[in-house]
Amino acid sequence: PDCRFVLFNRAGEELLGYRRTDLMGKNDYDFFPKDEADFFTAKDRQVLAGKAVLDIPEEPIQTRRQGRRVLHTKKIPILDKRGNPLYLLGISEDITERKAAENALLQKTRELERSNAELEQFAYIASHDLQEPLRKIMLYCQMLEQSYRGRLDAQADGMVDVVLRAAQRMQTLIQDLLSYAHVSRGEQPRQVVESRLAYEEALGNLEALAAQCGADIRCDPLPRVMADRSQLVQLFQNLLGNALKFRGSRPPEVRVHADRKGKQWQFSIQDNGIGIAPQYLERIFVIFQRLHARDVYPGTGIGLAICKKIVERHDGRIWAESTPGKGSTFRFTLPAEDA
Ligand code: ADP
Repeated sequence: PDCRFVLFNRAGEELLGYRRTDLMGKNDYDFFPKDEADFFTAKDRQVLAGKAVLDIPEEPIQTRRQGRRVLHTKKIPILDKRGNPLYLLGISEDITERKAAENALLQKTRELERSNAELEQFAYIASHDLQEPLRKIMLYCQMLEQSYRGRLDAQADGMVDVVLRAAQRMQTLIQDLLSYAHVSRGEQPRQVVESRLAYEEALGNLEALAAQCGADIRCDPLPRVMADRSQLVQLFQNLLGNALKFRGSRPPEVRVHADRKGKQWQFSIQDNGIGIAPQYLERIFVIFQRLHARDVYPGTGIGLAICKKIVERHDGRIWAESTPGKGSTFRFTLPAEDA
């Protein structure tokens, strides 16, 4: 059948840039370039023949006054009593601006991902290549110390010590940077992981420390999640390690728990340690940021940055809550097995 316009509303007039009276009795070929008119007419016929609603998520259209627009269109067949097509009702939403915004966002995201990957690559290469000259500095310092200790004066011995300690510290920092860069480089595809097993493995690695400070660590039933297994072990290990390290005068009490939240599981690791002042709750997740002198609580400030990276690579979130002097709770989310 030949399709002609029989009704048109005001929004339709404005979009096409024609008045109703100019449209009545005409068809798509009177107003649109041939390829577009072919597309519209083919879809119309399809709807009328199939007698079913058709949804066209993105339909480009050339308009007289507003240039090129993008529509989201629904075509609905209207049938007579015997089920034969009478009319076709088209409803369109102009999604041009929304599409443009979406595309801009997509492009920004791609750019960000690219520059992020570049930065990671840079950090990896830099830290990797820095190790070699550093090893040499340390080696020669040690040789200097062994061959000349006591043969120079006490001041010179002291200086060699300072150089050696600074170099060792630099080595630790570089190793931390490498392990940070490694989170994304060494990543395995996500699989179903018993988080209980990851937790137990992490705890095993902390056994000596836990025993030494008389820690009481308890864990509620833990779920299966979709994760990179070794990253999950590292996540638990960093958080449990901190719960033990940042203890107050009391022996540590640590509670591990998980709650289902929609498609994710929310884990919490609660301790009764020194706590964190509210103004630092976000800063602690930044690489190399820490709140204490190294001689009080050893560390470099990489642990939580790695936790954050691991959780975010699993599309989750991590944050801390705390009452200073009473303890802290670290929470993170991971995708559920059936999500
Ligand atoms: P590091 O342990 O090497 O200092 P992290 O990145 O693991 O590095 O932690 C950063 C800082 O966050 C720590 O220096 C500490 O001040 C604070 N912090 C982390 N975990 C806890 C905790 N369980 N209780 C109190 N403070 C914590």
